[in-house]
Amino acid sequence: MNIQDIHNLFLQCSSLSIDTRKIEKNSMFFAIKGENFDANTFAKEALDLGALFVVIDNKSYYIDERTILVENSLQTLQELAKFHRSYLGLPIVALTGSNGKTTTKELINVVLSKKFKTKATIGNLNNHIGVPLTLLSFTKETEIGIVEMGANHQKEIEFLCEIAQPDFGYITNFGKAHLEGFGGVEGVISGKSEMYKYLAANQKTVFVNLEDPIQIEKSKGIKSFTFGVKKQSADLNIQEITANPFVAISYDNFSIESHLIGLYNANNINAAVSIGSYFKVNESDIKSAIENYIPANNRSQMMQKGSNEIILDAYNANPSSMAVAISNFLQLHKNNKIMILGDMFELGDESLYEHKVIVDSLADQEQALCFLIGKSFYVNQVEKENIKFFETFETFADFLKNFKFDSNTILIKGSRGMALERALEYIS
Ligand code: ATP
Ligand code: MG
Repeated sequence: MNIQDIHNLFLQCSSLSIDTRKIEKNSMFFAIKGENFDANTFAKEALDLGALFVVIDNKSYYIDERTILVENSLQTLQELAKFHRSYLGLPIVALTGSNGKTTTKELINVVLSKKFKTKATIGNLNNHIGVPLTLLSFTKETEIGIVEMGANHQKEIEFLCEIAQPDFGYITNFGKAHLEGFGGVEGVISGKSEMYKYLAANQKTVFVNLEDPIQIEKSKGIKSFTFGVKKQSADLNIQEITANPFVAISYDNFSIESHLIGLYNANNINAAVSIGSYFKVNESDIKSAIENYIPANNRSQMMQKGSNEIILDAYNANPSSMAVAISNFLQLHKNNKIMILGDMFELGDESLYEHKVIVDSLADQEQALCFLIGKSFYVNQVEKENIKFFETFETFADFLKNFKFDSNTILIKGSRGMALERALEYIS
C-alpha cells in the first residue's frame, strides 16, 4: 500500500493514536516500537477498542483486512504527516529554540486564534513523533498550523522541517540547552539554524528579534519580519519593556500588560505580537489575547502561600534560562528574597563549569538567601553566609522542616528531574 492509499484510509478515521490507553473510536492506530515495548502487540487490542485501522510493521501481528502492514511504522507515520501537510496546503508557522518554545507557541496560538481557526502542538509534543502527530491533527478546517520543534542533536530540525514544510519560522533563542547532544554552544547554533536554512532554500519568511545578534546574523538573506526595541526601521517597534514583576510592553499604537514574569518573556510576547501583526490580527485582539493568557505547568507561575509570594519556575532549567531568571529575580523591588535552585541536567562536560558560574554569580550578591540543591551544585560549594548547599532534595526537605518562611519572595527553579515544586508543601 502506498502512502496515498494509507492517507485515504486515514481520512476516513476520526483521529490518529499511538497509545491504546488513549485510543478514540474510529481512529487509526500506529504501532510504534518504543525502547521497552513493541506496540505491534497492541494492534488487536486497538481494533477491539474501536480503531478502524491499525498500522503495524511486524507481519506476525496481522489480524484482518483492517491491518496495514508496512516496513517501518514510525517512518510511515512521518511520511503520512508530510503527505497530509501537503494535501491540506495550509500556512504553517514553526518554532524552535533553546528556551521559550512552548510559551511562545501558546502566545502565538491565542493571538492567531482571534482571527483564524488554528491548531497548534499539544503540550510539548515536539519531536520526531510529536511533530507528525501535530500535523496529522490538522484538518480541512484548520486555517493556520503552529508547530513546536524540539531538538537535542544536529540534523533533527532539518528533518522536522522536511516533514512540516513551514512557511514561517521563528527561533526563540540560541541558549545553553542540550549542550551534551549538540556538542557545545556552537553546535546549538548550527543545529537550530537548520530552520533558517530550510526557510532560505524555500523562499519562506522568518521572524527576527533584532535584540539577538545571532538571529540577525544567521537569518541574513531570508525574507523577514523584524521586531526590536526603539528601532523605527523594524516591522514592529517596541517602545518600552518593564517587568515588575509582570511584563508590560508598549508599542507605537498600543500597550500590553501581561501575566507573565521575567524579562525573557518579553521576547516571547514580542514574537507573538509580530506574528499577529503579520497576519493582520486587530491590535485590540492581540492585546486582549496576551493579557488573558495565564501560564501553567510550573512555567513562571506566580502564587501566594501564606505570607509568601512564590515565582514557581520548576518546569525546567538550563544555564541561560537560570541566569535570566536569577537576574530578573534580583531586580525585583522586594524584600526577604529567597532562591531555591536545583541542578541543571544534560550539560555533559560543561556541567561542572556551568554550575560554578551560577554559584559565583550568587556569591556576588547580598540580596537573597540561596538554597542550592543537587549533586552538581554541591560539588561547587563555597563558604558564604547566604548560600546553603544540599546534596539531595531529601536533605533539603529535612532542613525545611525547621525553617520558617515568613513574608518572603521566593524563586523556585531547577531541571525537570529535580521536581522542585515538591518544595511548595514546606512553604506556608
Ligand atoms: P522544552 O525544551 O521543554 O520544550 P521550551 O523551549 O518549550 O522548553 P518553555 O516551556 O516555554 O520552553 O519554557 C521553559 C522555561 O524556559 C521557562 O519556565 C523559563 O524559565 C525559560 N524561558 C522561557 N522563555 C525564555 C526565553 N525567551 N529566554 C530564556 N529563557 C526562557
Ligand atoms: Mg516546549
